[in-house]
Amino acid sequence: MSITFPFDNSFAALPEGFFLRQEPRPAPAPELLAFNTPLAAELGMGGTPTETELAQCFSGNALPEGAEPIAQAYAGHQFGGFSPQLGDGRALLIGEVVDTQGQRRDLQLKGSGRTAFSRGGDGLAPMGPVLREYIVSEAMAALGVPTTRSLAAVATGDTVHRETALPGAVLTRVASSHLRVGHFEFFAGRRDGARMRVLLDHAIARHDPEADSPLAFLKGVIARQAELVAQWLSLGFIHGVMNTDNTTISGETIDYGPCAFMEAYHPQTVFSSIDRQGRYAYDSQRHVLPWNMAQLASALLLLEEDAEAMVETYTQAVHAMPALIDAATLRRFGQKLGLADAREADRSLIEAWLALLQNQGADFTNSFRALSLDVALAERLFDDGAGFAAWRREWEARITSESLPQERMQATNPAVIPRNHRVEEALAAAQIGDMAPFHRLTQVLQTPFTLSGENADLAQPAAPGEEVEATFC
Ligand code: AMP
Ligand code: MG
Ligand code: MG
Repeated sequence: MSITFPFDNSFAALPEGFFLRQEPRPAPAPELLAFNTPLAAELGMGGTPTETELAQCFSGNALPEGAEPIAQAYAGHQFGGFSPQLGDGRALLIGEVVDTQGQRRDLQLKGSGRTAFSRGGDGLAPMGPVLREYIVSEAMAALGVPTTRSLAAVATGDTVHRETALPGAVLTRVASSHLRVGHFEFFAGRRDGARMRVLLDHAIARHDPEADSPLAFLKGVIARQAELVAQWLSLGFIHGVMNTDNTTISGETIDYGPCAFMEAYHPQTVFSSIDRQGRYAYDSQRHVLPWNMAQLASALLLLEEDAEAMVETYTQAVHAMPALIDAATLRRFGQKLGLADAREADRSLIEAWLALLQNQGADFTNSFRALSLDVALAERLFDDGAGFAAWRREWEARITSESLPQERMQATNPAVIPRNHRVEEALAAAQIGDMAPFHRLTQVLQTPFTLSGENADLAQPAAPGEEVEATFC
C-alpha cells in the first residue's frame, strides 16, 4: 500500500466505552468512482497510488498504515423521539490527520459493513446516496458552507437490497470531527457523567479550546449552528433529517441523506420522503435547531454539580439562539440583496421580495441571481409587474447608499446549485456505468458563482415532468 496519511488518532485513544473496534467488510470488487485530488493534498495524503490502489484503500480493503477503524457510540432524538443507542451502524472512523493547515480532520468510511451498532441494518450504502452525498457536500463547500467533505467514492461490487437490488458503494467522508449532539446524549441517557466529562474535554480541545465550562461550550455550539442554519436558509437548502445525531458539534453540515435545494420558493417546502409531518421543512429548520440545542443543554447539565441551580442559565443560552439565527439570516439575506450590513428596518424589504417570489412560485436561486445580474432580467420573472415595480423602487432607493452592491450580490447568489433533477440524472447514469454527468456536475459546482454558457443547462429548474418530488436516503 503506497498510500500514506499523517494519522494522529485522538478519539481512538479515549478509554473504553466511547467506541468499538471493527474491521471494514471486504469489498468483493472495488472500483473507484470518484476521487478528490485537491482534498487529498490538503489532508497530506502521500504516495502515488494507481486507481486500483485507491479503490482498495477507500473501499476499506487495504487500509493505510496507522488507520484504526472504530465505530463511535452515540444516541439521538430522531423526529423528536429519543433513541438511547444509535452509533455508527454503517460507518467507521478510520483515523484523524492533522492536515497541511494544521487542522485536525476525521477520515470516515460510510457503507463499510455492519458494526455492533447496526441494529437491524445491513451496514451498507447504495451507490446513489453515496454519490449524492459526494456531489452535494462538495457543492456546499464551494458555496462556502461549513460541511463534511468527500474524499472518495468506491463501488464495492456488492448488491444492496432496498426496495430493489442496488449496487453498493463506500464514501470516504472528511470532517473536522464526527462529534454530534447525540454523542453527549448517549452518556446523558446512561447518566455517565465521568465519560461525558472526557467527551467534553475532547470536544473542547477540538472545537472550542477557549471554552472553560460546559456552558461556554454549549454557547459555542449554539453560535456555530445559528450561523450554519442561516447559511442553509440563504441558499434554499433543506437538510431533511435534522435529528440530533445529525447535528454536529463543529457546526458543519453532516449526513446528506434526503437533502435537497428548493426550486420554487415556499417556506414549507419538504422533499425528504421520511419527513412525513414536515418537521424539517425549509423554514422549520430555524426552529428545530434551537430544539436540538435544548437537547444538548439538557445533556450537559449532567456535568453541573448543582444542575437545578443552572437550569435557568442553560435555558437562557438556548433561548438566545432564535435571535442569533434571526440576526445571521438578516445579514445573509441582506447581502443577497446587496446590503453590506442589513438593519432591522431592512427586514420588510427582504420579506416583501420573498413574498413576490412565493406569489409567483419563482425559482429561489435564479431569482436572486437574476436580480444580481440585471434588474430588468429579474422583472421578467414576475407576472405582477406593478408589485415588482413598487418593490424595485424601494430596493433601488435603499441600495444607492451601498458601495458595490452588485459585486456583493454576485458573490452571495450562486449561478448554479445541485438541482435535484440534475443530481438524480447523474446518479442514474452512474448506476449504468456512465460517470460523465457526475463528473460534469461536480466540476461545474466547484465554482458556483460563475457559470459559462455551455453549462447554462445545469442552472435551469426542472422542466415539467422533470421535477423531483421526494428524496430518499
Ligand atoms: P441516519 O438517519 O442515516 O443519520 O442514521 C441513523 C442511524 O441509523 C445511525 O446510527 C446509522 O448508523 C444507522 N443506519 C443507517 N443506515 C444503516 C444501515 N444501512 N445499516 C446499519 N445502520 C444504519
Ligand atoms: Mg446520521
Ligand atoms: Mg444518513
